[in-house]
Amino acid sequence: MSDFAFPPAPMPSVAIAGSSKRFPVRRIFCVGRNYAEHAREMGMDDREPPFFFTKPADAVVDSGSTIPFPPLTANLHHEIELVIAIGKGGAEIALDTALEHVFGYAVGIDLTRRDLQNAAKDKGRPWDWSKGFDNSAPCAALVPAAQAGNPQDARIWLAVDGTVRQDSRTAEMIWTVPEVIAIASQAVTLAPGDLIYTGTPAGVGRIDPGQVVTGGIDGLGELWVRVG
Ligand code: MN
Repeated sequence: MSDFAFPPAPMPSVAIAGSSKRFPVRRIFCVGRNYAEHAREMGMDDREPPFFFTKPADAVVDSGSTIPFPPLTANLHHEIELVIAIGKGGAEIALDTALEHVFGYAVGIDLTRRDLQNAAKDKGRPWDWSKGFDNSAPCAALVPAAQAGNPQDARIWLAVDGTVRQDSRTAEMIWTVPEVIAIASQAVTLAPGDLIYTGTPAGVGRIDPGQVVTGGIDGLGELWVRVG
């Protein structure tokens, strides 16, 4: 007997590599800008603190899906990203124990309506409509942390219709995986089911209707989606 006025929506989830079980998604956090355009010459003192934005949990999309071309944009952009899946929650998580909170990692794409984002920036408005739209968070199957190799120093790449547009290494991230977890947990209490998209390397660009986007991170496999 339910107290809900109508049946609740299905729990959003992502696949888990090598398992028939799925990872239930609670929230999606994203790091704003996390790859230096050039090799970093200076130490921590010169880094701007990372900033975060969010997407709805039900923005996740499995690899192999066709995504309807989103409304309100003429400049849909791809951003290939390493995704952290949180398996153990916590607040004020310490750097040296942060990795204990990781369930696994995945290849993800932070789809962005760049024209709406630029307009929002110009007007000092929130980014939500540019980032948090339907199907805006494609995510490949999660690889459990113990099987993920070293996702903090792996090739990360994305191609559109077979042409490579983004090609970097996760070691170029300004804020590392433990730092992202520790800093996010200062702002919110992280919980099992949270996903954190950790930012994208250079080479972002436009996707047109009908194009196929492929991406990968060494050790974590590949992801592809078609934009309808
Ligand atoms: Mn991004």
